[in-house]
Amino acid sequence: MKNGRLIVISGFSGAGKGTVVKKVVEKYGYSLSISATTRAPREGEVDGKDYHFKTVEDFKNLIDYNGFVEWTQYVENYYGTPRKFLEDEIDAGRDVILEIEVKGAMNIRAQYPDAVLIFITTRNVDILRDRLSNRGSESEEIIDKRIKRACEEAKFMGEYDFVVVNDDVDECVDTVNSIIISQKCRKEENEKLIEEIQKDFEAKA
Ligand code: 5GP
Repeated sequence: MKNGRLIVISGFSGAGKGTVVKKVVEKYGYSLSISATTRAPREGEVDGKDYHFKTVEDFKNLIDYNGFVEWTQYVENYYGTPRKFLEDEIDAGRDVILEIEVKGAMNIRAQYPDAVLIFITTRNVDILRDRLSNRGSESEEIIDKRIKRACEEAKFMGEYDFVVVNDDVDECVDTVNSIIISQKCRKEENEKLIEEIQKDFEAKA
């Protein structure tokens, strides 16, 4: 059986990446890696579903025991991708989506060169600012901080395999799925299958 594939999705806070990931998983049935974090749960977030919420001590223990494929400090919290789930899913031939920030994405690329990296963005900074303002939950100061961070993250966009502009969530969801499917159909991914089909033709045609 073929191993599963890693699909890394990054994007600016406010670009709608979380919603897109959720919908892609629901609609197309991909497996989703649940990260561990030391940040406090936001309202409505459920342990084990949105994140595995950890104390700093537990998180550091997991680092020591090689429990993460990658981890990073983002703002003042730790975030990491649990190793066991990821490896089990890949071994079972299931494709796994990771919603992680740019440094984590680069780390995954170094370890899994055939991971597909997708960056979700707004068309420009004004749209991002409007979306952040429309959430109504953040102060101008926080919005400015997020925009500054987005500016830093934008520098990594060229490292991704695909960039998707999120003008419309449902369209974006279908585009992400199409990217994953196209990637899986690449000839480089299917050398064995090509060989089998060619042999079959040679034998029977
Ligand atoms: P938030 O606190 O808003 O849920 O997440 C903050 C940032 O951390 C987001 O960009 C999110 O994609 C990223 N993130 C979440 N989990 C992980 C992880 O396991 N590893 C890395 N490197 N980034 C993560």
